[in-house]
Amino acid sequence: MKKDFYNQLLQKIQKGETISLQTSKQILSSKKIELISLLNTAFQIRKKYWGKKVKIHIINNVQNGYCRENCKYCAQATSSHAPIEEYPMKSDDEIFKEAKNAYEKGAFRYCMVFSGREQSWTRIEHIAKLVRTIKQQYPLEICVSPGIIDDDMATTLKKAGLNRINHNLNTSKRYYKKICSTHTYDDRLKTLSAAKKAHLQICSGIIIGMGEGQEDIYEMAKTLHSLKIESIPINFFMPVEGIALKHKPQISPEYCLRILCLFRFFNPQAEIRIAAGRELYLKHLEPLALYPANSLFMEGYLNVKGRSRLETLQMIEEAGFTIESNFELEDLIKKERSLTRPTSRTDIKMVIKNRRDLRPIETLKEEKELL
Ligand code: SF4
Repeated sequence: MKKDFYNQLLQKIQKGETISLQTSKQILSSKKIELISLLNTAFQIRKKYWGKKVKIHIINNVQNGYCRENCKYCAQATSSHAPIEEYPMKSDDEIFKEAKNAYEKGAFRYCMVFSGREQSWTRIEHIAKLVRTIKQQYPLEICVSPGIIDDDMATTLKKAGLNRINHNLNTSKRYYKKICSTHTYDDRLKTLSAAKKAHLQICSGIIIGMGEGQEDIYEMAKTLHSLKIESIPINFFMPVEGIALKHKPQISPEYCLRILCLFRFFNPQAEIRIAAGRELYLKHLEPLALYPANSLFMEGYLNVKGRSRLETLQMIEEAGFTIESNFELEDLIKKERSLTRPTSRTDIKMVIKNRRDLRPIETLKEEKELL
């Protein structure tokens, strides 16, 4: 593709224009569009708004499993037989200690995720209390993923100091019924609207590789653009054994990078996050994902392990990026090196998190009691 294509693309984006379905399809799959030139174009936009900083997010699966919804991609769904460690909501003490740990490991944002369609009013008030306390103790941004919420719930959480609500769109409106039948795409949009009314920032992402087509991907990018979503996690579907969705995704590392570029082009100022599946699909091209994306999850995902902290921090450093944190990247790496045996960056297999991964503080307490 001529140099002009990339310059014109950049100019278009800088003028606030969106790109057409045809161009989006070319970006995703045309061999004429060189990956390196595409990454360079995305990087110019990323650098303009985010410099070379990476925001690290650490997820706390505050309540795992027991969900009655049937999102087919989810290991916590009623339709799933995945062998996950299920538990009701963690104690406040456990949540506070895990927030402290996340802060000390360099997290910019601490994400508390609750399984389930929605939370009761009592639970919302409880979450508000947790948010208030964590914010008083640590300079962490907080994101909560509570499921479906209404206007009053969103306002209560905002007043407690919550920065962000996470509620993923996951796929396109057209494809939504293929992945879930217990709630609709419009239910999800209503929650985003409640969060917006309450002036909460919104984190809403997608999952690539569930059988959707390129038109669906285009629609997702356009919808997130029109909703002015501040934070977009790009997940790549992980076919955990036992979940209802049996689709086996064929996603190459190059395709992952093209997807990340496309979402950067549609959402130049958004925090684009390399989310679940980054290790599994990006393989040795993973560091290149930092050119379109400016954020990532560390320590794995809800129920699947990711690379070690040391590998993730080293990857950021080796690619020439730095982190947004009160701690220096170099110091965090030194600290991890003193705690962890050095490993080489190997392709990671999909491994389900165990109790120690999900509840490190509780596991340590139980082990001490046994002694
Ligand atoms: S995505 Fe959320 S609502 Fe859907 S099954 Fe999983 S935990 Fe339940």
